[in-house]
Amino acid sequence: MILEQVLQKHFGYGQFRPQQKEIIEHILQDKDAVVLMPTGGGKSICYQIPALVKDGLTVVISPLIALMQDQVQSLRSNGISAAFINSSLTVKQEGDIRTKLENGEIKLLYVSPEKLFSSNFLNYLSILKISLFAIDEAHCVSSWGHHFRPEYKKLYILKDTFPQIPVVALTATADKAVRSDIGALLKLNQPKYFIASFDRPNLSLAVLPGRKKWEQIRRIVEKHQGKSGIIYCSSRKATEDLAVKLQDIGMKADFYHAGLDNLTRHKTQEDFIQGELDIICATIAFGMGIDKPDVRFVIHNNMPGNLESYYQEIGRAGRDGLPSETILFYSYRDVQTHVGFMEEINDDAYRRIQMAKLDRMQEFAESQVCRRKVLMTYFSEIPEKDCGNCDVCKNPPKYFDGTTLAQMALSAMVRTKEKVGITTLIDILKGTYSQAVKDHGFSKIKTFGAGRQTTNFAWMLFIQQFIQQGIIELDYKDHYNLKLTRLSKDILFEGKSVRLVTPETIKERQEEQKQVKVEPTASKSAFNPTLFEELRVLRKEIADSQGVPAFVIFGDASLRDMCEKLPNSMHEFLGVTGVGEHKASQYGEAFLKVITKYNPTPKQKGDTYKITLSMYQDGKSVEEIAIERGVQPTTIYSHLAKLIEDGKMIDIHELVSVDEIKKMEIATEELGFLDALKPYFDYHSGELEYGKIRVILSYLKSQRVS
Ligand code: ADP
Ligand code: ZN
Repeated sequence: MILEQVLQKHFGYGQFRPQQKEIIEHILQDKDAVVLMPTGGGKSICYQIPALVKDGLTVVISPLIALMQDQVQSLRSNGISAAFINSSLTVKQEGDIRTKLENGEIKLLYVSPEKLFSSNFLNYLSILKISLFAIDEAHCVSSWGHHFRPEYKKLYILKDTFPQIPVVALTATADKAVRSDIGALLKLNQPKYFIASFDRPNLSLAVLPGRKKWEQIRRIVEKHQGKSGIIYCSSRKATEDLAVKLQDIGMKADFYHAGLDNLTRHKTQEDFIQGELDIICATIAFGMGIDKPDVRFVIHNNMPGNLESYYQEIGRAGRDGLPSETILFYSYRDVQTHVGFMEEINDDAYRRIQMAKLDRMQEFAESQVCRRKVLMTYFSEIPEKDCGNCDVCKNPPKYFDGTTLAQMALSAMVRTKEKVGITTLIDILKGTYSQAVKDHGFSKIKTFGAGRQTTNFAWMLFIQQFIQQGIIELDYKDHYNLKLTRLSKDILFEGKSVRLVTPETIKERQEEQKQVKVEPTASKSAFNPTLFEELRVLRKEIADSQGVPAFVIFGDASLRDMCEKLPNSMHEFLGVTGVGEHKASQYGEAFLKVITKYNPTPKQKGDTYKITLSMYQDGKSVEEIAIERGVQPTTIYSHLAKLIEDGKMIDIHELVSVDEIKKMEIATEELGFLDALKPYFDYHSGELEYGKIRVILSYLKSQRVS
């Protein structure tokens, strides 16, 4: 079978994503591979299709029980026999799976590395017919990364034990040191590295000032009402406080951190995956093993310490490829917190690396050029164009001459002998009688209140920019007080000018977050939100009755596509993305029933089919109908083919002979089910006419689906 057909039949996708096909073809030649693809890039298909095509069993090593369960459920929902073996199973359950394995009834087996190396399991595997090993989350093998798993290090034993069986290692890590380790540590045999672009264009990027965060968060979650999102916080307490606030405004929110017991953590994670909870406020403990495809937003309440973590965390949004939003709140306090942690690191070299990473993170947060460019460049990919999907692209900076403002701030610093931090400096400039001002008699200095006209918010932004431009230095060693630099003197005494980004720019970027976007659609037809909601409800009902997460039934992308294509037959339903044969037969009827209500006017084409149908029901032959309607017989055959697919009562035996059906059965076994007719025509050396090929194909398809 052609690979595209396997993809369509089992997964319901019309085409491969970049690299998928090359990877699959490589594996099918029994060669080893290392696959580096971003989260949501579609790694699973890369070993699942070889598993289906090859004879025997594919063993997938996966580090997390929750992840295995999701994968197995998803495969089963597509009618593929899959199972997992890990510590969560009872002896009896494992025994049942072993029986099936021995009978060759399972195509994909997921195992944890612990299980793999436990008593005799490798020996057990050697009695089975294994076609492929897939090692998921392969970065866990490297001690460079922060997800090192000691049992992963032993996985080279697979290659030692089964030298002939191909191994594919897959990961979404962007860390170069880790990447280069993988092949060697697993002892792969001249593995080919497939490196996809790590850009995730469907994720919008935004960095907003970390002030009045609650107001901003509230707006964002209200905009995404009913959708899934993650809010990363830097402390356990912050996750709890935020979750309570969100609950108070009626959100289905909860918190997650490493201080909770296993059971609670598990339940929260499950509820999120199942769609019982919309928002999780979490520390970075949350996320590894979250395979949820429809997370629509990720908010960073605090800035992470490096771009690797940041990118991994925002990467949990939009795995399904649909537009998703990411927002980072940035303030100096977060930088200070990280610096504080780093000062406790004893290893000098390590500390220097971490500090350098923090600098790059900060540069990203302060960037006034396309953020995606900054980000992708960090990961060694250099985009040609600005992305158009970050806050800087959407609202490019507007500049003004800020020399006078800079002089005001610098002069206040001189008069306070460089002994104040950002907050007190703003108090002085604004003429605010704060405690610090009173304690030190700052109200007496000449610049007190000189910057009254400028808002606190604007001063905050300006001082940040002075620091970014090296006009002022933030002295981490002296209580984060502000210090003059060489440049400050040029500005104070030499009249050097200063260019600043206007606060309006930042305001516009904040405004942008409030807007409810009309999500872009692939087709021209209007997207009906009411239908979408109804389909979501139906999906949830089915999911609940089966005890699986909603996305196992259909992803959002499939529901959206249904709303756009408005299929009105089983055949058209199979054309929806993510609808393979198994899902069509399981859920097609229920979904079509809902969709039909939104599809009241029969399409014009429908009428021509109706005419053919009624003439056929009157007992007329194909030739007679063709002559009467003034069209070619092939056209009438194609009408009849469509009517068969729609489940109309057409007796195939009145149209073609048993022998002709047999011939086409053989052809489809060889060629599979193609959209094009020519290959079948050629297959029969032109002895079977196109019209007949078409009706028999429809007949055979309808036989398979129903
Ligand atoms: P990864 O493991 O790389 O994070 P997945 O394998 O979970 O990504 O795939 C992400 C999403 O993309 C899934 O919903 C998957 O079904 C979908 N997907 C994968 N390949 C294709 C394709 N060729 N066409 C459309 N959707 C795809
Ligand atoms: Zn951009």
